[in-house]
Amino acid sequence: MEATKAESLETGPQSTVGNKDLIPLLDLKAQFTSIRDDVLKSVTRVIESQQFILGPEVSAFESEMAQTLGAKFAISCASGSDALLLTLMAYGIGSGDEVITTPFTFVATAGSIARLGARPVFVDINPATYNIDPFGIEEAITPRTRAIVPVHLFGQPADMAPILDIAARRGVLVIEDAAQAIGARYHGAPVGTIAQVGCFSFFPSKNLGGAGDGGMLVTNIPEIAGRLLLLRSHGSRSKYHHEVLGMNSRLDALQAAILGVKLAHLPAWSQARQRNADRYRFFFAERGLADSVGLPAVEAGCEHVYNQFVIRVRDRDRLKSALQQRGIATEVYYPSPLHLQPAFSYLGHHAGDFPVAEAASAEVLALPIYPELVETQQRRVVEEVAAFLRGNGRPVRSEHA
Ligand SMILES: *Cc1c(COP(=O)(O)O)cnc(C)c1O
Repeated sequence: MEATKAESLETGPQSTVGNKDLIPLLDLKAQFTSIRDDVLKSVTRVIESQQFILGPEVSAFESEMAQTLGAKFAISCASGSDALLLTLMAYGIGSGDEVITTPFTFVATAGSIARLGARPVFVDINPATYNIDPFGIEEAITPRTRAIVPVHLFGQPADMAPILDIAARRGVLVIEDAAQAIGARYHGAPVGTIAQVGCFSFFPSKNLGGAGDGGMLVTNIPEIAGRLLLLRSHGSRSKYHHEVLGMNSRLDALQAAILGVKLAHLPAWSQARQRNADRYRFFFAERGLADSVGLPAVEAGCEHVYNQFVIRVRDRDRLKSALQQRGIATEVYYPSPLHLQPAFSYLGHHAGDFPVAEAASAEVLALPIYPELVETQQRRVVEEVAAFLRGNGRPVRSEHA
């Protein structure tokens, strides 16, 4: 399915560069325009060096990430999906094991668990935050449970304190899927540094996106860092000596160089996303729609970095096509929860098993929130949503929002 990916492939043609009337979901060309010289310089530097695998560019970016996040170890890899896979491998999770996670996420979260022969055990979400509901976790734990993988969905931190508490009491580990939430904080702590290991993605549509695929593993545990280093590079520390069965999952030097340029801008980009979120809230409130559009909730003590700004309406599909007709791109993350995906049918789930996630899948709609979005564009988005709701002539507020 890979909805995120398909969408990002469309951002080129939909870019506002060249057509001011279209509002894309994401405008990577606008971002590139603002950092063009530095990016091209860094690319040239790598090409001139002809050192493409690991080396100084990758080490430098890893150090910057570790420093930025305040973590002891930051280990890059080929994608966010691989970061999850490598973490589970580092802990020896596989056949016969169970790993608890959310059904309302990108496929890779549960896919990495299943790929290793372990069983993804889904726990329903909190309807306000779309993140895994800690209250459902305890009863999902069995003697086979090895780990809990909360996702900081859309850029909002999952409710980590109760999750860590349950995990500590029941002797299971916690792995953060922070792919959508780089820079977000939970009671002051950067997400990805709160549990045993944090997994990040540099897929182009993430808040820190490369020129292709990339990922990062973050941990404070030296033994796990050592295992991750081995596993990402064929299980070897020195050439042609293989201590364990690993993978080829490294971050390209080209990606590291480009991401290094972008990392310096990340705080400003996150602030711009937060400013845009505040503007949406203001404009919707101004039109008396704050109650009829399910605006994203931000939990106390959480800093949301808005990889997506997701509203919630009952007539979602009709609103989406109405906006599309008016030149406004939106996307549905995610149109089907994972327990109802064909790839996970072997788990034996049915519609109704995770009703909160299923209702969210039917009602959520992500509006453009990218940093370069301007006030007039946001006004237009809100006006078009308002026009649709007026035309509908009935309240669309969801029972779950
Ligand atoms: C993007 C994403 C991933 C996977 O990252 P890739 O770099 O695309 O492999 C995993 N989990 C979540 C929640 C994501 O959004």
